[in-house]
Amino acid sequence: MIEIFGVIGYPLKHSLSPVMHNAAFREINYNGVYLLFEVRREELRSAIAGAKALNIKGLNVTIPYKEEIAELFKPDKTVQEIGACNTVLIEKGECYNTDVYGIVQSLKESGIGTSGMKVVVIGAGGAGKACIYALRDKNDVYLTNRTVERGLKVARKFGVEFLRFEDLENFSFDLVVNATPIGMKGFPSDLPFSLRVIERAKAVFDMVYNPPETLLLKKAKEFGCKTINGVDMLVYQGAKAFEIFTGKVAPVDVMRKAVISELEKIT
Ligand code: NAP
Repeated sequence: MIEIFGVIGYPLKHSLSPVMHNAAFREINYNGVYLLFEVRREELRSAIAGAKALNIKGLNVTIPYKEEIAELFKPDKTVQEIGACNTVLIEKGECYNTDVYGIVQSLKESGIGTSGMKVVVIGAGGAGKACIYALRDKNDVYLTNRTVERGLKVARKFGVEFLRFEDLENFSFDLVVNATPIGMKGFPSDLPFSLRVIERAKAVFDMVYNPPETLLLKKAKEFGCKTINGVDMLVYQGAKAFEIFTGKVAPVDVMRKAVISELEKIT
């Protein structure tokens, strides 16, 4: 019987996860299909109950449900520490966070590295927390967030310093990470802080992958920064999720190729 997987979030129209996972299923001849489940918040709990009843095997979780869904399943150690999941294996009732792996792998592959940097993470949601968790031990990490109260709470939890948007230009960072939807297709791209923050940075990592070059990355390139978009993070978090879903080695190159070719079509 075909195994059903999917991604749950809202809004979801621009997700490339189905293209990436279905290409991987085809590549290894796995009898699975990966779908989009765009679910409104008021339907979230009934959607999860429905997924269990329908024998859906696994789900990825995206904006804005990573925290809420982490409370509905047995969390692994990383989810326990971050408080956000992006992968659920429904048949086992367990949830995982593969964003951390995606962040570390893509920073390593880009040559930016994962240690010895002064880093500012913009965004205190699921992806921002995964990034702080991935980098805080070997870097000097700061957090900024639109909603100050939420930012302060997350900064306290992870033992990093919180800065308001307007204070950022008083600092120089080696690495600036965007973990918000600013610049993502369908969201505003205006930066809510001074461009001087980017001008002084050595590298900028934008987790957004659609479009592959956001206004933030365009400006960063103009300033001569090393830049990295969210494509590799998408691919590596997806590869790790694929392995959790199927127990098989993920065909990473096929997954990356599927994402890039789809992005070429739609951007
Ligand atoms: P989330 O948990 O909903 O958090 C969203 C964060 O973005 C919050 O900090 C929120 O601030 C901030 N934010 C939202 N709209 C904003 C705006 N207009 N201006 C300033 N800040 C804004 O979402 P998430 O799961 O962390 O995802 C965040 C982003 O990372 C998304 O764009 C997603 O596409 C990207 N991402 C990419 C990958 C990948 O594989 N490449 C993986 C995960 C996430 P408030 O606290 O003020 O609401």
